[in-house]
Amino acid sequence: MFNVEKIRQDFPILQRQVNGKPLVYLDNAATSQTPKQVIDVIVDYYSNFNANIHRGVHTLSQEATDKYEAARHTIKTHFNAKHAHEIILTAGTTHGINLVANGFASLLKKEDEIIVSALEHHSNIVPWQMLCEKTGAILKVIPMNMAGELIMDDYDKLLSDKTKLVFVNHISNALGTINPIEYIIKKAHQVGAAVLVDGAQACPHIKADMQALDVDFYVLSAHKMCGPTGVGMLYGKEAWLHKLPPYQGGGEMIAEVTFEKTTYADLPHKFEAGTPNICGGIAFGAAVDYMNNIGFEAINTYEHELLEYATQELLKIDGLKIYGTAKNKTSVISFNLEGIHPYDIGTLLDKMGIAVRTGHHCAQPIMNFYNIPGTVRASFAFYNTKSEVDALVTGVKKAQLMLG
Ligand SMILES: *Cc1c(COP(=O)(O)O)cnc(C)c1O
Repeated sequence: MFNVEKIRQDFPILQRQVNGKPLVYLDNAATSQTPKQVIDVIVDYYSNFNANIHRGVHTLSQEATDKYEAARHTIKTHFNAKHAHEIILTAGTTHGINLVANGFASLLKKEDEIIVSALEHHSNIVPWQMLCEKTGAILKVIPMNMAGELIMDDYDKLLSDKTKLVFVNHISNALGTINPIEYIIKKAHQVGAAVLVDGAQACPHIKADMQALDVDFYVLSAHKMCGPTGVGMLYGKEAWLHKLPPYQGGGEMIAEVTFEKTTYADLPHKFEAGTPNICGGIAFGAAVDYMNNIGFEAINTYEHELLEYATQELLKIDGLKIYGTAKNKTSVISFNLEGIHPYDIGTLLDKMGIAVRTGHHCAQPIMNFYNIPGTVRASFAFYNTKSEVDALVTGVKKAQLMLG
């Protein structure tokens, strides 16, 4: 049974106070909190196993290597990749996207087309713009409607045999929209284009199945799903990972080096130059285990209740407008109060111990679409409670009185 009070005991940070009030942490879309099961693994690693991996014959090095590779296996199983070597451990979503964009620089030519969506995070826009500058490829955008949904009819029209790549997030971090990636992938494949899905916002909510999706690349960051910062996953289909050139040169990614020629190591090491975030990778595996122990179905059902309750209560406030009303969405609520700047609301909420995000959420094109400078964003995780939603609603009302 899902017992939120018991789950909250796993998160030491949820016991702390902020500005003399109990912390109400509603900025989960920016980063999630870390349970003691993951913190313990980090402490254990540096207390007992710290060594460089894949190199030493000594015991510590072998133990660290085994733990790191075991974590890769856990991640592979969770995302149902066909092979463990299709899981590249990166520094996070941004790193994964740049790795793929850099690789495609050698595969694209002038006039080729690549498609992004109107709902993207800056990290899934800027690398592709840089790629277009380098190659002469053309960037097209799938437009969105007022509800914050991508318009699939327009997507169909953008696709042609010139399309080489499509990049879309699984869930929008700014609005919470769940995008129809199954459809997007199927349609792209019909014209022979590859698809990269940014799963950073989906990974804490949805257990994505790489083989069922038939996706070409899927990237995410461990810190969005109860893991540490500075580590993440790039899933790539084996054939694509063979086709792409390495991103960084260095140790670990080579088979043989002479001054005349270097041959690259096999997958996944070809893309893992240098000493990786060993502890982070191991803790990432622990985070995946932790979330699976709670269960994604239970998480989803519970978060949905929170979303519906919060939406209903917030909409009772006069002059409050929610941006992003897609039929399919996760527990993210972006909103504004008429005549009040989001930053001012966020500052007052912080004084009450409530952590929300304010601003453009690294998605300026969405804010431009709605013609607003930004929003207040409350994003809920499975360890949040209905009484925290109440605290938010009370806080917003107070802020409105003070600022209105
Ligand atoms: C958080 C996030 C990113 C960026 O992740 P980093 O860990 O900063 O690399 C990219 N896309 C989406 C949708 C996100 O939510």
